[in-house]
Amino acid sequence: MTIVAPPLGGSLFGVGRAFPFLAGAVSPVFSLATLLAIPLGGVAGATADSVLGATVQELRRCDVCDRACETDPHACGAPSRLVRGVRGFSNDVVNLLATATGAAVAFGFATAFAR
Ligand SMILES: [Zn+2]
Repeated sequence: MTIVAPPLGGSLFGVGRAFPFLAGAVSPVFSLATLLAIPLGGVAGATADSVLGATVQELRRCDVCDRACETDPHACGAPSRLVRGVRGFSNDVVNLLATATGAAVAFGFATAFAR
């Protein structure tokens, strides 16, 4: 443990020196609104992911394997059929929209209170 710690500390110190804007610049640069925007954006994105995932996200079924799946064709190679959700709203689309929602909420909150 003591053998590993000095090299790790040294490398982190090097990173801090290479990117000085990462160290200690939080309070003078960012307002409280900006700092609150980060968790608010995260909660908004996670909520959007849950809501979209439970409503519009595709749920497919492979009749050959008799299993629910997210892809067409299924991993076994057989075509799957849509059983719930909106065609085209894959898990990737839901993740993209949830991420965009979180970013928009964070950006909007931070800029709404910007001076
Ligand atoms: Zn299958």
